[in-house]
Amino acid sequence: MKLCIFAKDRIGAISDSSVTDITDLVPQPYRDDPGMAMNVLIRNWANVRQEISRALSSLPKLPLDSVQLSAPVCAPPHVFAAPANYRKHIGELGAQAVTKTTRTAREQGFFLKAPGSITGMAEGITLPDRPGRRFDHESELAVIIGTGGKNIPRREALSHVFGYSCLVDLTMRIEPGTHEEERSMRKSFSTFTPIGPWIVTADEIPQPQGLSNRLWVNGQLKQQANTAEMIVAVDELIELVSGVIELSPGDVIASGTPEGVGPVVKGDSVEIEIEKIGRMTLQVR
Ligand code: MN
Repeated sequence: MKLCIFAKDRIGAISDSSVTDITDLVPQPYRDDPGMAMNVLIRNWANVRQEISRALSSLPKLPLDSVQLSAPVCAPPHVFAAPANYRKHIGELGAQAVTKTTRTAREQGFFLKAPGSITGMAEGITLPDRPGRRFDHESELAVIIGTGGKNIPRREALSHVFGYSCLVDLTMRIEPGTHEEERSMRKSFSTFTPIGPWIVTADEIPQPQGLSNRLWVNGQLKQQANTAEMIVAVDELIELVSGVIELSPGDVIASGTPEGVGPVVKGDSVEIEIEKIGRMTLQVR
Protein backbone atom coordinates (compact mmCIF):
# COMPACT_ATOMS: atom_id res chain seq x y z
CA MET A 1 0.00 0.00 0.00
CA LYS A 2 1.08 3.60 -0.60
CA LEU A 3 0.32 6.04 2.25
CA CYS A 4 0.59 9.81 2.14
CA ILE A 5 -0.25 13.04 3.92
CA PHE A 6 -2.17 15.46 1.67
CA ALA A 7 -4.05 18.77 1.95
CA LYS A 8 -1.84 19.63 4.96
CA ASP A 9 -3.43 17.26 7.49
CA ARG A 10 -5.24 14.39 5.75
CA ILE A 11 -3.92 10.84 5.66
CA GLY A 12 -4.40 9.11 2.34
CA ALA A 13 -3.98 5.76 0.65
CA ILE A 14 -2.89 5.92 -2.98
CA SER A 15 -3.95 3.47 -5.66
CA ASP A 16 -3.20 3.99 -9.33
CA SER A 17 -3.62 7.72 -9.81
CA SER A 18 -6.10 8.46 -7.05
CA VAL A 19 -5.98 9.07 -3.32
CA THR A 20 -8.52 7.93 -0.72
CA ASP A 21 -8.90 9.91 2.50
CA ILE A 22 -8.45 7.41 5.36
CA THR A 23 -7.96 9.98 8.14
CA ASP A 24 -11.12 8.89 9.96
CA LEU A 25 -9.88 5.30 10.13
CA VAL A 26 -6.76 6.28 12.10
CA PRO A 27 -7.12 5.51 15.80
CA GLN A 28 -7.69 8.55 18.01
CA PRO A 29 -6.51 10.78 19.66
CA TYR A 30 -4.29 12.44 17.06
CA ARG A 31 -6.55 13.02 14.06
CA ASP A 32 -5.81 16.75 14.01
CA ASP A 33 -2.05 16.27 14.06
CA PRO A 34 -0.95 14.55 10.82
CA GLY A 35 2.56 13.73 12.01
CA MET A 36 1.36 12.12 15.23
CA ALA A 37 -1.57 10.50 13.43
CA MET A 38 0.80 8.81 10.97
CA ASN A 39 2.93 7.56 13.88
CA VAL A 40 -0.20 6.10 15.50
CA LEU A 41 -1.22 4.53 12.19
CA ILE A 42 2.23 2.92 11.84
CA ARG A 43 2.15 1.72 15.45
CA ASN A 44 -1.31 0.14 14.98
CA TRP A 45 -0.86 -1.00 11.39
CA ALA A 46 -1.34 -4.71 12.10
CA ASN A 47 -4.75 -3.95 13.65
CA VAL A 48 -6.09 -1.39 11.16
CA ARG A 49 -4.63 -2.58 7.89
CA GLN A 50 -7.54 -4.94 7.07
CA GLU A 51 -10.15 -2.33 7.86
CA ILE A 52 -8.37 0.22 5.69
CA SER A 53 -8.03 -2.24 2.80
CA ARG A 54 -11.76 -3.02 3.02
CA ALA A 55 -12.75 0.64 3.22
CA LEU A 56 -10.74 1.61 0.16
CA SER A 57 -13.36 0.20 -2.20
CA SER A 58 -16.20 2.23 -0.70
CA LEU A 59 -14.61 5.57 0.25
CA PRO A 60 -14.53 8.44 -2.30
CA LYS A 61 -11.38 8.94 -4.34
CA LEU A 62 -9.63 12.13 -5.42
CA PRO A 63 -7.32 12.41 -8.44
CA LEU A 64 -3.74 12.22 -7.16
CA ASP A 65 -2.64 15.18 -9.29
CA SER A 66 -5.29 17.38 -7.67
CA VAL A 67 -3.82 17.15 -4.15
CA GLN A 68 -0.77 18.71 -2.48
CA LEU A 69 1.47 16.09 -0.88
CA SER A 70 3.40 16.81 2.30
CA ALA A 71 6.04 14.57 3.87
CA PRO A 72 4.38 11.22 4.71
CA VAL A 73 6.25 11.09 8.01
CA CYS A 74 6.64 14.53 9.55
CA ALA A 75 7.02 13.86 13.27
CA PRO A 76 9.24 10.79 13.63
CA PRO A 77 10.75 10.30 17.07
CA HIS A 78 14.20 10.18 15.43
CA VAL A 79 15.85 10.70 12.07
CA PHE A 80 19.02 8.61 11.95
CA ALA A 81 21.38 8.92 9.00
CA ALA A 82 24.22 6.85 7.62
CA PRO A 83 27.37 8.70 6.54
CA ALA A 84 29.51 7.61 3.59
CA ASN A 85 27.49 4.49 2.79
CA TYR A 86 28.30 4.19 -0.94
CA ARG A 87 31.93 3.50 -1.84
CA LYS A 88 32.10 5.85 -4.83
CA HIS A 89 30.83 8.82 -2.77
CA ILE A 90 33.78 8.45 -0.40
CA GLY A 91 36.49 10.85 -1.48
CA GLU A 92 34.43 12.92 -3.93
CA LEU A 93 34.13 15.86 -1.52
CA GLY A 94 37.89 16.18 -0.97
CA ALA A 95 38.74 18.58 1.84
CA GLN A 96 35.03 19.33 2.33
CA ALA A 97 34.39 15.76 3.52
CA VAL A 98 33.92 15.15 7.22
CA THR A 99 34.19 11.36 6.92
CA LYS A 100 37.80 10.20 6.75
CA THR A 101 38.32 7.97 3.71
CA THR A 102 40.23 5.50 5.85
CA ARG A 103 37.25 4.81 8.08
CA THR A 104 34.53 2.42 7.02
CA ALA A 105 30.81 3.10 7.15
CA ARG A 106 30.55 0.48 9.91
CA GLU A 107 33.06 2.34 12.06
CA GLN A 108 31.25 5.64 11.42
CA GLY A 109 27.90 4.44 12.77
CA PHE A 110 25.22 7.09 12.32
CA PHE A 111 24.43 10.74 12.94
CA LEU A 112 21.16 12.50 13.70
CA LYS A 113 19.12 15.02 11.74
CA ALA A 114 16.51 17.11 13.55
CA PRO A 115 13.00 15.72 12.81
CA GLY A 116 11.85 19.36 12.52
CA SER A 117 13.92 19.68 9.33
CA ILE A 118 11.47 17.42 7.44
CA THR A 119 9.60 18.90 4.48
CA GLY A 120 7.58 17.60 1.54
CA MET A 121 6.66 18.39 -2.03
CA ALA A 122 4.01 20.93 -1.07
CA GLU A 123 6.44 22.98 1.02
CA GLY A 124 9.71 22.52 -0.91
CA ILE A 125 13.19 23.52 0.20
CA THR A 126 14.12 26.94 1.59
CA LEU A 127 17.84 27.68 1.71
CA PRO A 128 19.07 29.72 4.68
CA ASP A 129 20.73 33.10 4.19
CA ARG A 130 24.38 32.06 4.58
CA PRO A 131 26.37 33.99 1.96
CA GLY A 132 29.25 32.09 0.41
CA ARG A 133 28.14 28.69 1.69
CA ARG A 134 27.44 25.67 -0.48
CA PHE A 135 24.29 23.56 -0.03
CA ASP A 136 24.34 20.04 -1.48
CA HIS A 137 21.75 17.42 -2.39
CA GLU A 138 22.16 13.80 -1.27
CA SER A 139 19.79 11.22 -2.79
CA GLU A 140 18.83 8.56 -0.25
CA LEU A 141 16.47 5.67 0.43
CA ALA A 142 14.48 6.37 3.62
CA VAL A 143 13.64 3.41 5.84
CA ILE A 144 10.58 3.89 8.07
CA ILE A 145 10.47 1.68 11.14
CA GLY A 146 7.21 -0.15 11.94
CA THR A 147 7.95 -2.33 14.95
CA GLY A 148 10.47 -0.83 17.32
CA GLY A 149 13.01 -2.62 19.45
CA LYS A 150 16.46 -2.70 20.98
CA ASN A 151 19.33 -4.90 19.78
CA ILE A 152 17.46 -6.13 16.69
CA PRO A 153 19.54 -8.84 14.98
CA ARG A 154 20.23 -8.43 11.28
CA ARG A 155 18.31 -11.58 10.28
CA GLU A 156 15.11 -10.16 11.82
CA ALA A 157 15.70 -6.53 10.91
CA LEU A 158 13.60 -6.26 7.73
CA SER A 159 10.51 -7.48 9.61
CA HIS A 160 10.80 -4.25 11.66
CA VAL A 161 10.45 -2.05 8.56
CA PHE A 162 7.08 -0.38 7.98
CA GLY A 163 7.97 0.98 4.58
CA TYR A 164 10.24 3.04 2.37
CA SER A 165 10.30 6.53 0.90
CA CYS A 166 12.63 8.91 -0.96
CA LEU A 167 14.72 11.31 1.12
CA VAL A 168 16.99 14.19 0.15
CA ASP A 169 19.63 14.79 2.83
CA LEU A 170 20.43 18.48 2.30
CA THR A 171 23.72 19.61 3.73
CA MET A 172 25.63 22.83 4.23
CA ARG A 173 29.20 21.89 3.38
CA ILE A 174 32.11 22.72 5.65
CA GLU A 175 34.72 25.21 4.47
CA PRO A 176 38.00 23.90 5.88
CA GLY A 177 39.73 26.31 8.21
CA THR A 178 36.83 28.74 8.43
CA HIS A 179 33.41 27.13 8.74
CA GLU A 180 33.44 23.65 10.26
CA GLU A 181 30.13 23.45 12.13
CA GLU A 182 28.84 20.18 13.58
CA ARG A 183 27.27 17.84 11.01
CA SER A 184 23.94 17.72 12.87
CA MET A 185 23.62 21.52 12.61
CA ARG A 186 24.65 21.72 8.95
CA LYS A 187 22.04 19.08 8.05
CA SER A 188 19.22 20.34 10.27
CA PHE A 189 18.21 23.69 8.77
CA SER A 190 14.43 23.93 8.34
CA THR A 191 13.35 22.02 5.17
CA PHE A 192 16.72 20.20 4.87
CA THR A 193 15.08 16.74 5.03
CA PRO A 194 12.53 16.36 2.21
CA ILE A 195 10.71 13.00 2.40
CA GLY A 196 8.13 11.64 -0.02
CA PRO A 197 6.17 11.52 -2.13
CA TRP A 198 4.59 8.71 -0.06
CA ILE A 199 5.47 5.63 1.98
CA VAL A 200 5.44 2.30 0.15
CA THR A 201 4.76 -0.41 2.73
CA ALA A 202 7.44 -3.06 3.10
CA ASP A 203 5.29 -5.92 1.72
CA GLU A 204 5.68 -4.28 -1.71
CA ILE A 205 9.49 -4.05 -1.35
CA PRO A 206 10.63 -7.28 0.33
CA GLN A 207 14.25 -6.64 -0.71
CA PRO A 208 15.42 -3.00 -0.33
CA GLN A 209 18.84 -3.64 -1.90
CA GLY A 210 18.62 -3.56 -5.69
CA LEU A 211 16.59 -0.39 -6.26
CA SER A 212 17.78 2.30 -8.65
CA ASN A 213 18.31 5.64 -6.87
CA ARG A 214 18.43 8.74 -9.07
CA LEU A 215 18.37 12.51 -8.59
CA TRP A 216 18.11 15.35 -11.10
CA VAL A 217 18.65 19.10 -10.73
CA ASN A 218 16.74 21.16 -13.32
CA GLY A 219 16.19 18.03 -15.39
CA GLN A 220 19.89 17.12 -15.46
CA LEU A 221 20.78 13.71 -13.99
CA LYS A 222 23.22 14.24 -11.09
CA GLN A 223 23.10 11.04 -9.07
CA GLN A 224 22.53 7.53 -10.36
CA ALA A 225 23.23 4.43 -8.31
CA ASN A 226 21.63 1.29 -6.97
CA THR A 227 20.87 0.53 -3.34
CA ALA A 228 22.70 -2.79 -3.89
CA GLU A 229 25.89 -0.67 -3.73
CA MET A 230 25.28 0.36 -0.13
CA ILE A 231 28.16 -0.65 2.15
CA VAL A 232 26.00 -1.14 5.24
CA ALA A 233 22.72 -2.64 3.99
CA VAL A 234 19.32 -1.77 5.47
CA ASP A 235 19.20 -4.84 7.74
CA GLU A 236 22.65 -4.08 9.16
CA LEU A 237 21.76 -0.39 9.60
CA ILE A 238 18.79 -1.42 11.75
CA GLU A 239 21.03 -3.73 13.77
CA LEU A 240 23.59 -0.96 14.16
CA VAL A 241 21.17 1.76 15.25
CA SER A 242 19.10 -0.47 17.53
CA GLY A 243 22.31 -1.61 19.18
CA VAL A 244 22.66 1.95 20.46
CA ILE A 245 19.10 3.12 21.13
CA GLU A 246 15.64 1.57 21.05
CA LEU A 247 13.94 2.11 17.71
CA SER A 248 10.35 3.41 17.76
CA PRO A 249 7.48 3.12 15.25
CA GLY A 250 7.81 5.94 12.73
CA ASP A 251 11.56 6.38 13.16
CA VAL A 252 13.34 7.24 9.91
CA ILE A 253 16.75 5.96 8.83
CA ALA A 254 18.35 7.83 5.92
CA SER A 255 20.53 5.16 4.37
CA GLY A 256 23.27 7.32 2.85
CA THR A 257 24.09 8.92 -0.47
CA PRO A 258 25.87 7.64 -3.57
CA GLU A 259 28.33 9.72 -5.60
CA GLY A 260 27.28 12.77 -7.61
CA VAL A 261 26.57 15.04 -4.65
CA GLY A 262 26.45 18.66 -5.77
CA PRO A 263 25.13 22.12 -5.02
CA VAL A 264 21.58 23.46 -5.27
CA VAL A 265 20.69 27.14 -5.44
CA LYS A 266 17.53 29.23 -5.22
CA GLY A 267 15.24 28.61 -8.18
CA ASP A 268 16.43 25.04 -8.78
CA SER A 269 14.08 22.11 -9.19
CA VAL A 270 15.29 18.90 -7.52
CA GLU A 271 13.76 15.53 -8.45
CA ILE A 272 14.48 12.26 -6.68
CA GLU A 273 13.23 8.88 -7.87
CA ILE A 274 13.74 5.48 -6.26
CA GLU A 275 12.58 2.35 -8.03
CA LYS A 276 9.31 0.84 -6.71
CA ILE A 277 8.67 3.98 -4.61
CA GLY A 278 8.14 6.92 -6.94
CA ARG A 279 9.34 10.38 -7.83
CA MET A 280 9.30 13.56 -5.74
CA THR A 281 9.87 17.04 -7.19
CA LEU A 282 11.02 19.88 -4.92
CA GLN A 283 11.36 23.58 -5.62
CA VAL A 284 14.30 25.38 -3.98
CA ARG A 285 13.44 28.78 -2.58
MN1 MN B 1 23.50 11.78 3.72
